[in-house]
Amino acid sequence: MRFKQHLSTAVFLGFLAGFYFLLFGCAAYLVSSSYPSSSACDRLFVFKLQLFANIPLFVIIGIIVAVLLSLLPRRFGFSEGRGGIIHLLLFSGLSVYLQFKLFSESYMVSGLPPVLKILIYPSAAVAVILFLSLPYFLTRRTLAKEDSENRLLALEGILAGLLLLMIILGLVKPTASWSALSRRTGEGGNILLITVDTLRDDHLSYRGYFRKTSPNIDAVASEGVVFENAYTAVPRTFPSLCSFLTGKYAHRHGARNNFHHALPDFNLTLPEILKQESFITGAVVTNAGLQARRKINQGFDYYLETGHQNSQAQKVPALRLLDFLRLSYPLRSFWDDQAGRTRAEALKFLQRNRDKKFFLWVHFIDPHMDYNPPPTFAGFFDRDYSGRYESHFHYGKVGAERMIFDCPLSPGEIQHAISLHDGEILHTDNEIGKLLSKLKEWELFKNSLIIFSADHGESLGEHGYFFAHGDLIYNPCMHIPLLIRFPGGAVRKRISTPVSSVDLMPTILDFLGVEPPEELDGVSLLPIIFGGAEPRRAIFGESGISIFSSSNPRMKMEIEPQRPLAILPEEWFPLWEEVFNDARFRMMVEGDWKLIYTPDGGSGSFELYDLASDPAEETNLYEEEAEIAERMRGRLMNWVKGDTLRNIEAISYDREMISNLQSIGYLR
Ligand SMILES: [Zn+2]
Repeated sequence: MRFKQHLSTAVFLGFLAGFYFLLFGCAAYLVSSSYPSSSACDRLFVFKLQLFANIPLFVIIGIIVAVLLSLLPRRFGFSEGRGGIIHLLLFSGLSVYLQFKLFSESYMVSGLPPVLKILIYPSAAVAVILFLSLPYFLTRRTLAKEDSENRLLALEGILAGLLLLMIILGLVKPTASWSALSRRTGEGGNILLITVDTLRDDHLSYRGYFRKTSPNIDAVASEGVVFENAYTAVPRTFPSLCSFLTGKYAHRHGARNNFHHALPDFNLTLPEILKQESFITGAVVTNAGLQARRKINQGFDYYLETGHQNSQAQKVPALRLLDFLRLSYPLRSFWDDQAGRTRAEALKFLQRNRDKKFFLWVHFIDPHMDYNPPPTFAGFFDRDYSGRYESHFHYGKVGAERMIFDCPLSPGEIQHAISLHDGEILHTDNEIGKLLSKLKEWELFKNSLIIFSADHGESLGEHGYFFAHGDLIYNPCMHIPLLIRFPGGAVRKRISTPVSSVDLMPTILDFLGVEPPEELDGVSLLPIIFGGAEPRRAIFGESGISIFSSSNPRMKMEIEPQRPLAILPEEWFPLWEEVFNDARFRMMVEGDWKLIYTPDGGSGSFELYDLASDPAEETNLYEEEAEIAERMRGRLMNWVKGDTLRNIEAISYDREMISNLQSIGYLR
C-alpha cells in the first residue's frame, strides 16, 4: 500500500469513527434527562460541538495512523486488501476501547435489569464494528470496479462534500430563543448587574487584597459607590440570588435551598417590574442551580443558563478523549472556558438589544470549586509550586467532607489552592473587562447603572472550614462585594454601614423612581448614598442547609440521619425538610456587632462579635456584653420565629441534576 492509499483509507475510517461518536454523543444527549429542560440555544450548542469536535479529531487520528503505517519498512508492507483490514481492525479496536474506557461514566445507564447491563458492552462493541465495517466494505466494493486513481478521487470527493456540509451546519444560528423577544425601544438608562459566584469581598484588590486580582473591577470601583460591609442573605447560590431579585430574605421568598426548591410565583421579581417599565430583560447565568425550571427566570425576556452547555461539553466523545490523553488542558479554553462563554453569551444579548433600554444580569461561576483557571491564570499567583494540585484543585480522593472540616493538606498546598482560587477571580475579572470594554465601544457604559456583587463568599480555612460555603455563617461566607456605579461615574464613595443583598432591588427601583412592592425586607440605599445618613439597621442572614452536618464540629443538632441507600436524595430532602431548616445557623448584624445563633434543640447558643476590633470573629463577647447581647437576641429570635417554611415550592429533580450536584460536592 502506498502512502496515498494508506491516507485515504485511514482518513475515511477516521471520518466514520468520528461520525459514529457524533451519532453516539447526540443520541446519548437526546435520551438524557437534561435534554427536555434545555433551551433551543443550548441544544444547538451541544449538537454543533459534537459535530465539530468528533469528526475532525478522528480524521487527524487517521492522518497520524496513515503516516505511521507508511513508515513501516517495505518488507512489512501490506497488500491493498490486507492493508484495508489492518486499518479497519485498528479503528474498530480504538473505538471499542474508547467506548468502554471513557464513556461508561459520562453516560450513566441506570435502572436496567442486570442481564441487560451485562449485554450492553458486547452489543456496543458489535455496533461499533458493524458501523465501521459495513460502509467501509460497501464503499470498497462500489469503487472496486474503477481504477485506483478514480477511487481515490471519489473518496476525496466524499470527504470534501461532508466537510462542506459541516461548514453549512456550522452557520446555523440559534434564532429560536431570540425570536420571542418583543421589540421595544428606550432611550438609554440601562442596567447591568454582574454577580460572581463564590467571591469574598476581601479577595478583590480594590478592597485591599494583597494580590492584584481585579484590575477591571477596581476601575469601576474607582468611579462608584463601594459598600464595605455588604452581606448575603444566604451563603448558597440559588436562595441568595433569589434574595437579590426579590428584595426579601429567603424564608419570605420561599426558595430555601439549592436542591429541590423553586422560586414561587407569588414573588414579584425585579425583572418583572422592570418589564412593566419597558425594559428588555435578559439573564446570562452560569450555575447548574440556576436553571430556568427553578423559575428564577420569572420576568426575563431572555434567560440562558450556560452551565448546561459546559457540562454537556465535557461529555462530547472527542473532548473526553483529549482529556484522557491529557491534551485537553492547553486546548480547554476552546470549549470549557466558562467565564469566556458567559461573557460571549452576554455580549450576544447586548449586541441584539443595544439600541433598547435593557436590564442584563450576568452571573459568572468560575471562582467556585473546582479551582482550575485556564493556563494563563493557573500559575499566575504561585509560580514556584509543583505538586498534585498544580493547575487544578478539587476535593478529589480526599473527599469533600474530609477536605472541608478536617483538611489534611500541607500549608503549602493550602496556599496554592488559594492562589488557584485567586487565579479564577483574575480570570473572571479579565472577562468582565472584555464585557465592559465592549459596552464602552458601543457607548453604553457611560450612561448605564452598573452593579457588581457576589452570591456569597468562600471560607478558606477560617474557623477550620476549608474551600466551601453555606454550612457556616461567619463573614468569609457572608461578606460579599457590593459596588454601584451610577451613570457618568458621578457618585464616588465608600460606605461602611452594613447593608444586605435584599437592598438591591429597592435601590434600583428607587433610582428609577418606581414604587417598590409592599412588604420587602430590603430598603433603598439611596438615602445612605446621597443623604449621608447612616441609620442603624439590623441585617439578617441564615446558613444553607448543612450537607456535612455530622462532621461539622459547630453543629449542635443531631440532624443527619444516615440516608438509607434505598432512598433517593429527592425523597430524602423533603423528608427531613423541617429538621434541616431548624438546624440552620442564623445571624444578625447591627452596626459593628454580629450575633450568631446556633440551634441545639433547646434554647440554642450564641456568639457575639465586635467586628470593628475583631473582624475575624474569634472572641465571643456574648457573656461580657450582656446588654447588647440581650437586645440583639430578642430581635434575632423574633426573625427566626417568622420562618415557618410556609412558602416553599418543591421541584422534582433528575439524574443529571443529581450528578451535577455531586460533581460540585453538594451531594454524596
Ligand atoms: Zn454560589
